[in-house]
Amino acid sequence: MKAAIYRGPEDLSVETVASPEVGPHEAKMRVHACATCGTDAKIFHHGHPRLEPPQIIGHEIAGEIIEVGDQVHGLAIGDRVQVIAAVPCGECWACKAGRMGICINQTSMGYQYPGGFAEEMIIPHEVLTVDGVNHIPDHVSYDEASVTEPLACALNAQSLVNVGPGDTVLVMGAGPIGCLHVRLARAAGAAKVFLADINGGRLELSQNVVHADRAVDMSAEDLGQIMVDETDGIGPSVIITAAPSGAAQEQALEIVAPGGRVSFFGGLPKDKPMISVDSNVVHYRELIIAGANGSSPAQNREALGLIASGAVPVADLITHRLPLDQVREAIAAVTSGEAIKVVIRPGDRS
Ligand SMILES: [Zn+2]
Ligand SMILES: [Zn+2]
Repeated sequence: MKAAIYRGPEDLSVETVASPEVGPHEAKMRVHACATCGTDAKIFHHGHPRLEPPQIIGHEIAGEIIEVGDQVHGLAIGDRVQVIAAVPCGECWACKAGRMGICINQTSMGYQYPGGFAEEMIIPHEVLTVDGVNHIPDHVSYDEASVTEPLACALNAQSLVNVGPGDTVLVMGAGPIGCLHVRLARAAGAAKVFLADINGGRLELSQNVVHADRAVDMSAEDLGQIMVDETDGIGPSVIITAAPSGAAQEQALEIVAPGGRVSFFGGLPKDKPMISVDSNVVHYRELIIAGANGSSPAQNREALGLIASGAVPVADLITHRLPLDQVREAIAAVTSGEAIKVVIRPGDRS
């Protein structure tokens, strides 16, 4: 089979490798769609501490079951499925407390296990044990289902800052995750949703699809003042930073409403993780700052349900569909901001 093998920074190539063998507690799938995300670009350029090359990367995975180990129940050949990316152990104190996103033994598809940029992929026992495989409803395409995992991550973040009816939500960062946050906040009943970015081109591309109540080009407009004007002088009740930007995190804490909640969704570059915060602003305004990391199997299930019900449409966010051979082009398109969501289709026979 063909697979995209990552061997180190800037070294990712599509090669022919042996088709993986299925163990008794595993299943094998044909990968029909694996979406690319910012993390793939990060891995491609800089590597990742939890990833030991060589490895098949790709973790936003949907496809069809083609073989099932004899100890596996609930899966059959021909089933259309979506697979979780972050794999919790299900056993540690965090998992038992229902906080699988911070599982202390977490592993991930495309990191410890071969991922989805391959024609075929093993669904490991560890994924099956925690109910990490979801059946895709017939009317949902593989491409749409591959967006389940990033949507689940957005869902995790928004549940941690309790986005709900009446909220005014500002999303900073108009990439694919920012688009998902806008749609999810709407689905949660937010009164107004705003989208901001420093890249005017990316903002326009995304705004033309998600139609936030107001899009703000931070390179040309005064985001703080516009937010004051748009919220009766109060500021947004929730701000989500969906960009690897410390400056965005700092500004979010300055312009959020008193009593507001800020989600640091996007991680910062590991050589620049520090920000500067006026702690008294957090103190006197009773701000709540929440991190967000990954998603649980249950959140994947819920996200796929939101896609299937139409509450969070994703088909129109997929701007590029590429064969496996063009995985590097796919990552470049994600990095440059010319694409919203790019889906690789490894299972398409060419
Ligand atoms: Zn991802
Ligand atoms: Zn755990």
